[in-house]
Amino acid sequence: MLKSEYLQRVYTQVVTRDPDQKEFHQAVLEVLESLDMIVEQHPEYEQKGIIETFVEPERMICFRVPWIDDEGKVHVNRGYRIQFSSAIGPYKGGLRFHPTVNLSILKFLGFEQILKNSLTGLPMGGAKGGSDFDPKGKSDGEVMRFCQSFMTELNRHIGQFVDVPAGDIGVGAREIGYLFGQYRRIRGSYDAGVLTGKGLEFGGSLVRTEATGYGLCYLTEEMLKCMRNDSFQGKTVVISGSGNVAIFACQKATQLGGKVVAMSDSNGYIHDPNGIDLDVVKDIKLGHRGRIKEYAERVPGSTYTEGFRNIWNVPCDIALPCATQNEIDGEIAKIIVKNGAMAVAEGANMPCRPEAIHVFQEAGLLFAPAKAANAGGVATSGLEMSQNSMRYSWTFEEVDAKLKDIMVNIFHNIYNAAEECGHSGDLVVGANIAGFKKVADVMLAQGLI
Ligand code: NDP
Repeated sequence: MLKSEYLQRVYTQVVTRDPDQKEFHQAVLEVLESLDMIVEQHPEYEQKGIIETFVEPERMICFRVPWIDDEGKVHVNRGYRIQFSSAIGPYKGGLRFHPTVNLSILKFLGFEQILKNSLTGLPMGGAKGGSDFDPKGKSDGEVMRFCQSFMTELNRHIGQFVDVPAGDIGVGAREIGYLFGQYRRIRGSYDAGVLTGKGLEFGGSLVRTEATGYGLCYLTEEMLKCMRNDSFQGKTVVISGSGNVAIFACQKATQLGGKVVAMSDSNGYIHDPNGIDLDVVKDIKLGHRGRIKEYAERVPGSTYTEGFRNIWNVPCDIALPCATQNEIDGEIAKIIVKNGAMAVAEGANMPCRPEAIHVFQEAGLLFAPAKAANAGGVATSGLEMSQNSMRYSWTFEEVDAKLKDIMVNIFHNIYNAAEECGHSGDLVVGANIAGFKKVADVMLAQGLI
């Protein structure tokens, strides 16, 4: 129950309008709980209808995606693009290809993206899109034909000043390449700025691949330094997932002196007490799109256990959930606390359920929420857009330094916002308030409603 009648009314309307959209309700409620602390000081939000506008996407596009498999059989998937907010810049957010994709998940991700993009300090609105297509087990040709069909519809809704999609779960460099190729063919124009996460040879940015995982570690390192006078050095780290975010979080955590001892995929997890050999993980996951299970067959001393949630039984100092939403519930959170962890930082979007966050905060663990902790990916996408506009490329070191600066700034911005509203150390509240206030001010200034 929210304290503010206004916020409670908005939340009730969100739930009544779309009663099945559980993930979206969860994301909205978490943000409204934080706004509950400032809404009284801002009567203009209610007078101008800011919050009810903020929780409703500007536009939702839904379309069919027919494609032909290698046997000549036709399949039809569903494609989406949720253009949530363009208050502070063109819509920006990834595309997810996964069988679980539906409107609720994309609305939650698009909503979070508004706040995340705002926190980066770059001029980007919020969006998300994707399809219930499952790239797993599909041939390159099938993935290409799917991407071409998807872009055949999507192209009319995007553009460098309109909406700039990127990757997410199931959408990596291969998919972005096929999507860009189709966009270019249909439009007859080389608009490199229409997608981010592109190959380096056609307008991509150095560090974009590594950015989310690296950024997660930069923000975590700053949080450890400022709030505990500590660092990754000598810490045991557990990272769920073994995709783009997890792999580069593992790389940076190791470079910063941590020892990563466990990683997972959707089937199970590996435990390597000697420290994960990331070259083996990369070879399995990026080399031939294999299963994490293979690691235990190749690296002596490591073990594989079925069931991806069991990874959290492995004790650690720092937990970095980097797989998917809602993987850590209250019970798992209690195990992480009991095993002596000091910090949790979300690499995935909303991997911790609200009750899990509550357990962490009650137990005094440091907790960095996704919209701040994993903002490095979209921030570097923003840097890719800048380079595309300039028709110029920065070096790896230049982009990496800018990414680090952005993550350190985000940490101080959310830390200060929490302090200012009397919730010192609560980075969830800090991220929600800092991200929201900028967008709300712009909505008021532009007279959007
Ligand atoms: P990838 O597709 O590269 O990897 C996803 C990883 O999570 C894989 O190991 C996958 O296992 C596992 N996974 C996916 N779905 C499930 C599920 N339902 N249950 C258990 N495990 C699952 O995606 P990313 O690394 O790009 O994204 C991971 C998370 O980070 C997502 O929440 C995404 O929204 C978020 N994120 C990503 C950004 C980016 O730049 N890529 C930016 C900001 C956030 P398997 O291979 O078995 O499917």
